[in-house]
Amino acid sequence: MADERKIRATGGCLCGAVRYELRGEAGPAGYCHCADCRRCTGSAFNISVRVEARDFRVVHGNPKGFTKTADSGNRLTRYFCPECGSPIYTASERHPDTYYLKAGCLDDPGLARPTHQSWTKSRVPWSAIDRTLPSFDRET
Ligand SMILES: [Zn+2]
Ligand SMILES: [Zn+2]
Repeated sequence: MADERKIRATGGCLCGAVRYELRGEAGPAGYCHCADCRRCTGSAFNISVRVEARDFRVVHGNPKGFTKTADSGNRLTRYFCPECGSPIYTASERHPDTYYLKAGCLDDPGLARPTHQSWTKSRVPWSAIDRTLPSFDRET
């Protein structure tokens, strides 16, 4: 049966092969400094947005999943675009009703409301952004 609820957010990968819709509130977002998030994002930290699994639907493409047991013992499956490799979302065996969207794959990343950070003991020294660094609106 078609979900008639209003689409609240859309997003997708870099190449456009994977597209999704969100029909519910985007929950709180968290920065994660853990080593797994660093690897899978290729960045200093991940920013994930908590959503209800029932509100999330892939409407184009087939994200590929990679499952790994986290340090917490929880098995996480990270889904990404099989064409361009962009990380899209993470599912947790322990909390099957919840997904964690990568904030940067939202069409409007401004919807993410960061409320906390975790695994700061793994934070890389340069990941705290120094606001006094020279800044450029576009490329340097
Ligand atoms: Zn892609
Ligand atoms: Zn993490």
